[in-house]
Amino acid sequence: MPSRPVSNYKPLCRADDVNTLKDDIRRHVVSSLGNDYDPPRPYPYYKALAFAIRDRMVDRWIHTQRRYHETKSKRVYYLSLEFLPGRFLKNNIINLGLDKECRQAVSEFGFDLEDLSELEWDAGLGNGGLGRLASCFLDSMATASIPAHGYGIRYDYGIFYQVFQNGHQIEKCDNWLRNGNPWEFERPENLYEISFYGWSESYQDQQGNTRFRWVGTDNIMAMACDTLIPGYTNGHVINMRLWAAKSSREFNLEYFNVGNYIGAVEDRIHSETISKVLYPNDSAEQGKELRLKQQYFFVSATFQDIIRRHRKHVGSWSELPEHVVIQLNDTHPSIAIPECMRIFLDQEGLKWEEAWDICVNLFAYTNHTLLPEALETWPVDLLKRVLPRHLEIIYEINRRFLKLVAHRYPKRPDLQHQLAIIDESHERRVRMAHLAIVGSHAINGVSAMHSHLLQEQVFREFNDLYPGKLRNVTNGITPRRWLLQANPGLSQLISDTIGAQWVTNLSDLSKIQPYADDKSFRQKWREVKMENKRRFARYVLRKTGICIDENSLFDVQVKRIHEYKRQLLNIMHVIALYQRLQQNPEAMIVPRTVIFGGKAAPGYVTAKLIIKLINSVASVINNDTTIHGKLRVIFLSNYCVSQAEKVIPAADLSEQISTAGMEASGTGNMKFALNGALTIGTMDGANVEISEEVGPENIFIFGMKAEEIVKHQQEGYQPWDMYHRDRELQGVVDLISSDQLSPEEPGIFQPLVHALLDGGDRYMLMADYRAYADAQEAVSRLYLNQDEWTRRSIINSASMGKFSSDRSIGDYASTIWNVTPLPRRDYAQSCEAPEELS
Ligand SMILES: *Cc1c(COP(=O)(O)O)cnc(C)c1O
Repeated sequence: MPSRPVSNYKPLCRADDVNTLKDDIRRHVVSSLGNDYDPPRPYPYYKALAFAIRDRMVDRWIHTQRRYHETKSKRVYYLSLEFLPGRFLKNNIINLGLDKECRQAVSEFGFDLEDLSELEWDAGLGNGGLGRLASCFLDSMATASIPAHGYGIRYDYGIFYQVFQNGHQIEKCDNWLRNGNPWEFERPENLYEISFYGWSESYQDQQGNTRFRWVGTDNIMAMACDTLIPGYTNGHVINMRLWAAKSSREFNLEYFNVGNYIGAVEDRIHSETISKVLYPNDSAEQGKELRLKQQYFFVSATFQDIIRRHRKHVGSWSELPEHVVIQLNDTHPSIAIPECMRIFLDQEGLKWEEAWDICVNLFAYTNHTLLPEALETWPVDLLKRVLPRHLEIIYEINRRFLKLVAHRYPKRPDLQHQLAIIDESHERRVRMAHLAIVGSHAINGVSAMHSHLLQEQVFREFNDLYPGKLRNVTNGITPRRWLLQANPGLSQLISDTIGAQWVTNLSDLSKIQPYADDKSFRQKWREVKMENKRRFARYVLRKTGICIDENSLFDVQVKRIHEYKRQLLNIMHVIALYQRLQQNPEAMIVPRTVIFGGKAAPGYVTAKLIIKLINSVASVINNDTTIHGKLRVIFLSNYCVSQAEKVIPAADLSEQISTAGMEASGTGNMKFALNGALTIGTMDGANVEISEEVGPENIFIFGMKAEEIVKHQQEGYQPWDMYHRDRELQGVVDLISSDQLSPEEPGIFQPLVHALLDGGDRYMLMADYRAYADAQEAVSRLYLNQDEWTRRSIINSASMGKFSSDRSIGDYASTIWNVTPLPRRDYAQSCEAPEELS
């Protein structure tokens, strides 16, 4: 065989100076977009700038790929049904280290980078925290030079666009690809076939073994769409590969041959619905056939990609776990486990034990919730129809697993039912969390408290059965987007004071802690916050027409609307403040602007009613001139990543008030504290660790602990007692119950009142109300002492080192993935000399 020619590959190494950037932008306006470059118009210039940036990423990405190849490094495959990247432009520019140059280049064309950046559609291919976590992790893996790939679905429509009509949420479709997407590479030449339906049949192979094959299937195609994710100034670029569904052939030939042209086209449209839309449920499952097909579609395409990439390099399949680890972001991609078994058994002809061993070593699973309604299960009948061979494999996994349980606990037949992968108690269903636990080598919760509850309660028996398999990796957020990009004023002040190492080593922020006692530093810190508040106030005025007082306390709760997150408790406190003001206009000395943002799942009736209530309260309060603007309520529509970047740096107070034991981690809490907001919160999720880091004197913790909640619920808690005991609370509930807030829709809020008083108050709002209102009093008192408030604000930021997603990724890499960063060989270095590749 002729030996492979020595590669003369050399990165293209485009120059990064202002003039070259300008040339590239102008060239893209003309050649890529077909526009006249003069006079400069914003949209083509935004896109051309994106192309100029993408050019520089591609070059680094190819370089990165070659390095993976060369070093034969183990790679991480991060599988997630959701990614929530937001806008890319500023983030990519910052990570490439081209901020100054790009600002200069666009200003010479008469533009401001901030304005151009606002022209980009916010990429919302996720619901909330889980999707945003996946995006923060990609940034951190790229920055840590870990060989990694993100995999997901390229939805035509991401999370819906939220508007309000008469205070009600209305969903509009998010047509994010309407103006094209300058960041992605579609790869129509790379297609994989994905099968559904059909049946499983057995046959004898040439050695006389009984084997199975999946036949009679309907097939569609998956097309790769690649978006590059650059690390922070390290020349390492990774890829987020999202799959788009395409019909299996341009036209279905059968229909075509019988002259049914329209039928053929309809069939094509039908196939492509798989990647049409993101399911808009957060922390609840819908159980629809199309959702199952989305899950398998993306898992199957991803697996074919993984196998193709490694088939060439691994000697035998048993070596695969030395080259590959697959992280499942929740159970959504857990059909990957039976898919992996199917490929090894049916296609590669491995024995069960050998295939299973590889499988378990490949997979790791992250659990994201304790809420029973969010644990995924699929009806056996549905799986049997859509994925018949996978169901057979799941049954066999279950059978072998239950044998193990029986062996371990011979006197506990009840455990068989409790732990089984197939739930036989009602209609038979597959418990995807059990499948993921049995089929993975590591399972992790996302905060210390959450992981502890998994180990001790939800998955206690699994923890006994597999000691050490259940771990903790506390979530984190990327400091590049959530401080450097979102809060340039504060970033500059911090870097001027302690240097810029914090950008990749967030623990360094502790060096600003001593400056909390420095009066002039506090003054500067306060000025930055004030400037952020002013900028945000201008945004609110533009968006809502409401003028807010920048000297008031900005009290912010932005996150998905969910009963357990207790936006209702927040608005109840607002009502109480309002009633105090009505009774005595001098009563409240600290003016507040209470800001809400967040979407409700379209089918979640109670969450939508809470939105309506907040809007109704806002309208009454904001139009009442007798309170002299001391209280304002703002509900910003369409909360998304780019809006988070505007509101979080302007917040004084961060509301993290979930019912204890219900929020797995939260990441919004981390973003706020990093940007110097003080937290009012319960002992829940990562709040517990935040409180440990900042010290209990620098956070407003209130309310019942998780154990107390459970105890209260078991002992039969009486919400009416709280109502009768607390006059203020009574006034609040009575106002919600009256028609004063919504004269045009009488009785509309009765379901909320009913849930609080007669429905058992599952989320314990009545029980926690007094503690919450008292904690809010303490907040107001402290805010009067601006110097002390600022001191604590500095301590909060200074203590956030632990909550960098770089630390989370470091934990995954060393304790779960067993991967190491690529040895350093600078991209810039490679620009000087061609690489020596064998
Ligand atoms: C961080 C983030 C979330 C998660 O917020 P939580 O407060 O942790 O629920 C949701 N949505 C967006 C847009 C975010 O940026």
